[in-house]
Amino acid sequence: MGTYNFSAGPGVLPNEVITKIKNDLAAEENSNYSILEISHRSPRFENIIKHAEAQLRDLMAIPDDYAVLFIQGGGSLQFEMLPLNFANQTGQVAVLDSGNFANKAAKAANAVGKKGVIVASSREEKYRYLPELPHDFQSSDYDYLHITTNNTIEGSTYHQSNLPKTNGHLVADMSSNILAEPYDVTKFSAIFAGAQKNLGPAGVTVAIVKKDWLAEQKIENVGPMMRYQTYVDKDSMYNTPPVFSIYALGLVLDWVKDQGGVDQMYVNNQKKAAKLYDYLDQSDFYQVPVQGTDRSITNVVFTTGDADLDKKISQDADVAGLHHLAGHRSVGGFRASLYNAQPMAAVDTLIDFLKKAAKEN
Ligand SMILES: *Cc1c(COP(=O)(O)O)cnc(C)c1O
Repeated sequence: MGTYNFSAGPGVLPNEVITKIKNDLAAEENSNYSILEISHRSPRFENIIKHAEAQLRDLMAIPDDYAVLFIQGGGSLQFEMLPLNFANQTGQVAVLDSGNFANKAAKAANAVGKKGVIVASSREEKYRYLPELPHDFQSSDYDYLHITTNNTIEGSTYHQSNLPKTNGHLVADMSSNILAEPYDVTKFSAIFAGAQKNLGPAGVTVAIVKKDWLAEQKIENVGPMMRYQTYVDKDSMYNTPPVFSIYALGLVLDWVKDQGGVDQMYVNNQKKAAKLYDYLDQSDFYQVPVQGTDRSITNVVFTTGDADLDKKISQDADVAGLHHLAGHRSVGGFRASLYNAQPMAAVDTLIDFLKKAAKEN
């Protein structure tokens, strides 16, 4: 039986990518120097970063009027950079509070001196469903609407088909489902994703920003590291970028393309998730709190309804080689992350294990 990593992040990477990294490092051992030591100004790295951008543009069909930027600081820094750069007219950011990360984004806007306004929330119902925009929502009252396409902790997703409809600017945190399912980039004014869920190792965050929108902004008292324009002007190399993370990200993008691109990832991910949800739904031992089309295909959240039993079963799972199945510490239960690199065999092994656990407990 294999060993599988169901961690929500840093998450599983394709075996082919790990092998390629090992081989690259081994090949460089006796030559000049390795990727871990090269200058970010070297031609080798320039090719790497240009290639990563080109691959991402191709995979997501990102038009030329959007900038593709590589930034450090994770999704959490984006929660602060976005309001600093874009909440300049009304000073208000509308947030659909669909989960813990959305909630953090609203608080981060306040922390940088703007106003994060929760316009709808399912927090009181433990985020079991996706909140919808209120009928009287006025996009002109806000500089933009912030959504989390995939709620990593709660296991719910605004898919392309159920994105909230706003006449204003839409900004999406795609940290945990970028490239897992297709989105129409032109529906968004900005998109960001920390790499460590579905794009590569930790250390780099991708930001996709509409250039016109950025050009309109009059920003005061914001330092260069916190301005998107700096990253645009300096090709994401105003300061030293995370060289290794960008190299590994590029390898993951190559892998996604080799597998058939985002559409094929979506087909595979739907199959994996459907198999697991089908098992959980017919079982009278496990329950899935999120229903219907709101369900995530990258983070499958479930529980037995008994916190102690959930804990015991995830510990047993760990012993059986099924790692990091415990839900986020804030919610408990189970969470099986089925990112692009997760093979179907992981789902099959997990279902066998869950069947056994249901019998034994
Ligand atoms: C993990 C995650 C974040 C936070 O990312 P960091 O890189 O740890 O700052 C933000 N949003 C979502 C949806 C996430 O899954």
